[in-house]
Amino acid sequence: MRTHTLGEGEPALAVVVGQHGDEPCGELAMERLLAADDLQVTGAVLFVVANERAAEAGDRFVDVDLNRAYPGDPDADAHEVRLAHDLLDVVDDLPVLDLHSTVSTVEPFALYQRLTPGTRRMLERTGLDRAVDIRTEAGGMTTHVDGVAVECGLKGSAAAVDNAERVLRNVLAAYGVVDGEAAVSDPTVFEVTGRVDGTGYEFLGENFVAVPAGTPFARRGDDELVADDPFYPVLMSTDGYEDSVGFRATRRGPLSERPDDDERD
Ligand SMILES: [Zn+2]
Repeated sequence: MRTHTLGEGEPALAVVVGQHGDEPCGELAMERLLAADDLQVTGAVLFVVANERAAEAGDRFVDVDLNRAYPGDPDADAHEVRLAHDLLDVVDDLPVLDLHSTVSTVEPFALYQRLTPGTRRMLERTGLDRAVDIRTEAGGMTTHVDGVAVECGLKGSAAAVDNAERVLRNVLAAYGVVDGEAAVSDPTVFEVTGRVDGTGYEFLGENFVAVPAGTPFARRGDDELVADDPFYPVLMSTDGYEDSVGFRATRRGPLSERPDDDERD
């Protein structure tokens, strides 16, 4: 892990890049931004390059998936379990923007695991039009901070770096770190209801497009997975996960109509 502060004074937020070593878009966008000559820096931001060992190896992780390892443990044997503990320590109580890339979807979208005023503020200030509530998955960083992960686009693509830079510039302007106009959005929320387990399936659908009941959405030879009830696929792909096709979600409507967690029944 390494950190870098842009600007003077207390950081307004932390930007985490490279939790997964094979997703370079966040670090590349950060480097572009640090080299840019058009920025009027008016505040401060803490950049955290998370899993440098995995990035050097070109792998998602060294021992275990870092973004399933929170809150971590400083005395663990696994590199990422120790790193998770150190990362929470470094970002402390700052709001977090956490940049990722995927094999599932070209268009960027946001993900969150708890809905607090701080998380809502970050979701709106990504400027993105889709947000996924994925609190069903244990061990994510955003379970422990007021923060948002963004899937910026396809792993290794130039477009993912462009999207990461666009979101980053928007968030930094919105948090007063740099001068400039910032878009504020009211994203549509998709709530994950479960994971579809299985190995070697070809995903037949399209993410964020409803799968009607009775329609096959994944195939492995003669074996087809058919939806009993309609759902929205999220992070579903043929090659994304070793033991899972991805996630089923329900469309919940605009974020502005979702209550904060402490106001839920
Ligand atoms: Zn990732």
